[in-house]
Amino acid sequence: MRKTVSFTRHSANVFFHLLTRCNLRCRHCYINPDQHGRNTLDIDTIDRWLTLFARRHPESNVIFLGGEPTLHPDLSTAVRRSRALGYASVTIDTNGYLFHDILDRVSPDEVDYFSFSLDGPSPSINDPLRGSGSFEHCTRGIAAAKERGFAVSLIYTVSRANIDHLARMPTLLDELGVDRFFIQVIGVRGEWAEDPRHRDALAQVDRDTWLAVIPQVAESVARRGITVTFPKVFLEPDEPFECAGLVADNYFIFPNGRVYRCPLCEDYPLHSLEIRDDRLVAAAKVNEADLFPLCIPEGCVMNRIIQPRNLPPADGGKPAYKIACCMLKEEITP
Ligand code: SF4
Ligand code: SF4
Repeated sequence: MRKTVSFTRHSANVFFHLLTRCNLRCRHCYINPDQHGRNTLDIDTIDRWLTLFARRHPESNVIFLGGEPTLHPDLSTAVRRSRALGYASVTIDTNGYLFHDILDRVSPDEVDYFSFSLDGPSPSINDPLRGSGSFEHCTRGIAAAKERGFAVSLIYTVSRANIDHLARMPTLLDELGVDRFFIQVIGVRGEWAEDPRHRDALAQVDRDTWLAVIPQVAESVARRGITVTFPKVFLEPDEPFECAGLVADNYFIFPNGRVYRCPLCEDYPLHSLEIRDDRLVAAAKVNEADLFPLCIPEGCVMNRIIQPRNLPPADGGKPAYKIACCMLKEEITP
């Protein structure tokens, strides 16, 4: 069954970047230490920040990220603390290297999903994007997680560099025993976005290509019994547009204390909240919250500002389609 996942305020999502350090140097990495900090949060601070959000939004979902979160020596303690605080679900996003024997230090009762990132169905596609040997490490990590009884999801970030190979993923997902598949659209963010060579090679795919490939592959994955989620990206002119910054509760927390409500804003000091002395306070204006209510015919205002290349030429001032909020997803359940 295919459906658009509506935004809701019933449950908040806490995307918690514990550190920005990583063992890989993916070409499309969105982490920007100048904006997000270079520090690793200590476990006491993690505990206090988890408590802060648990009190504000009981039964939120927490997603631990980095950098590579398994590089954090106290990740298992952070997981257990999240459970004790009543978080509804705990996910660990990982590049698959699984440092500090994390699979031995947490249990399937404590972690809802290990979410692995892989950007190609073979080393020849994935490794030029994510680093030599990363395909092997990631697929081995998935097998190890499955062996220990963890649920596993896989994230494939689509760009011009790998969309032609997405159709080979269903077979691989089946072989690996992946439980959920997330297709993401590459964000023009992070240090690479400043480099014109990478911008072209890794650019977002156009609407026709996206629509010709993504839904079909998603259907094919779902037919194998795997739930698939992919971003909507393109809206017809008469489809309703909503900004998650106004109608949902997502928090993107970085080690320097910045808290964003919109991932597209993360390359800029546009965060609307920050953690100061363990309190969540409003950040200085102008910030992302001032942009969310702006109503423009092209849909997402941040997309219009920072990645307008995915917009069509306006015909008499009216665009042929709109860009959806980057957090609006379609889901196909088997
Ligand atoms: S694994 Fe993630 S944090 Fe590390 S370089 Fe790749 S995209 Fe960046
Ligand atoms: S991606 Fe666009 S629509 Fe979504 S929260 Fe950010 S500004 Fe709003």
